[in-house]
Amino acid sequence: MSILIAGGGIGGLTAALSLHAAGVGDVRVLEAVPEIKPLGVGLNILPNAVRELAELDLLDELLEVSLPTGTLGYHNRHGQLIWQEPRGVAAGYRWPQLSVHRGRLQAVLAAAVRRRLGEYTIVTDARVEGFTVRPDGRVDVRVDHPVAGRRSGTTADALIGADGIHSRVRACLYPQEGPPPWNGLVVWRGTTVAPPFLDGRTMVIAGDDRRRAVVYPMSAPDGPDGGVLMNWAVARAADPGQAFEDADWNRAVPPESFLHHFEDLAFDWLDVPALIRTAAEAYVYPMVDRDPLPRWSHGPVTLLGDAAHAMYPMGSNGATQSIVDARVVARELALGNTPAEALAAYEAERLPALTRIQAAARRRGPEVVIDLAHERAPDGFDDVAEVFPGGELESVSADFARLGGFDPQTVNTRPSLAVPTGAGGPR
Ligand SMILES: Cc1cc2nc3c(=O)[nH]c(=O)nc-3n(C[C@H](O)[C@H](O)[C@H](O)COP(=O)(O)OP(=O)(O)OC[C@H]3O[C@@H](n4cnc5c(N)ncnc54)[C@H](O)[C@@H]3O)c2cc1C
Repeated sequence: MSILIAGGGIGGLTAALSLHAAGVGDVRVLEAVPEIKPLGVGLNILPNAVRELAELDLLDELLEVSLPTGTLGYHNRHGQLIWQEPRGVAAGYRWPQLSVHRGRLQAVLAAAVRRRLGEYTIVTDARVEGFTVRPDGRVDVRVDHPVAGRRSGTTADALIGADGIHSRVRACLYPQEGPPPWNGLVVWRGTTVAPPFLDGRTMVIAGDDRRRAVVYPMSAPDGPDGGVLMNWAVARAADPGQAFEDADWNRAVPPESFLHHFEDLAFDWLDVPALIRTAAEAYVYPMVDRDPLPRWSHGPVTLLGDAAHAMYPMGSNGATQSIVDARVVARELALGNTPAEALAAYEAERLPALTRIQAAARRRGPEVVIDLAHERAPDGFDDVAEVFPGGELESVSADFARLGGFDPQTVNTRPSLAVPTGAGGPR
């Protein structure tokens, strides 16, 4: 069976590795950019996806480029702690939660694809433009090679659109949809080498009803000064009239252009404005997502990751869910009778849960505790239990994990998504 994957991002590369591990022989990744460069800043991978990467035998390599997240803390704009909880192994999972630079994660996945599936499995400068499903059920894919200045066509048994939030495959399936909707918030993201804070493994989310800062280390202390690679993202409502031509992950901006909005988020244990001021890089991005779709799979064509269900970055689900999608689609393709049946089964397993998670992210996911704290105690509090009586805080976080099926009990005990050796239908 031959599979084409549009997009060599986190989901597409994991899908290629998973198909290979499941025994599907002929896999190619068509990636639009001419060269895979370490783009983006930080992201978190939750234990349910780390389990999948471990089952792909990548955990040791990943631990070399990431940091296990130990604690997640929510704070008000005065720096007071609203709620904190252990994460990863400390929370009872058998696998860690990882804080990692997106570019480093993508580099580990791309190197593994080239090593395991062959040097030419990832075809760069190959932008998928469109496709046609043939009467025999196979799919003809049209590809543009902008740098080489030519176009080509190729045919496969199935096409997986893992081409991100601006997915071309999705646009072909849903031509009326238009650009991703914007909620009016602006996010600035960046990295800074800085001294560690708290225990050196904590992710902090702090703010009020208007502004939010997310900060976490992605490495252990290094060098004579003991600096760590710190990821930060700050968000606020756009200025009146402010607009974005498009949502571009790589739009660099000078820190001075937005620093003034966040000057007061300086606590005696974490200085957010200092991180911004001394940033190695800073990017601006409108907070966009995608509306849930009624279907991802249409015959031999499906969507995966952000192409299927891009969501706001609340609760570390973007990369996490794309990895789990990849594992499920590979298992179904390896075990199913026909590609169309396999892709329908993948959708049936994944779409309902992802629709719930997308909706929860629009309600700000577990970060809603920051809004509630601001609403109830804008000037801070002496005792947080007076602001949130009766176990309310515990249930916000636990409910969110259960909703997405990534609570410790489910993740630790669910069957593996790997395909047992010797199992399977036509490959
Ligand atoms: C450059 C970049 C930087 C990012 N930075 C961050 C970040 O800092 N923090 C964060 O949380 N998330 C970031 N993301 C998004 C994050 O990677 C995803 O939310 C998540 O990992 C899900 O991955 P995905 O594979 O679905 O999509 P992505 O990781 O977005 O990968 C999509 C891939 O498809 C390729 N592509 C696009 N169109 C086509 C086409 N027509 N044909 C072939 N290939 C195509 C893209 O070049 C990209 O490599 C970034 C994405 C990109 C592309």
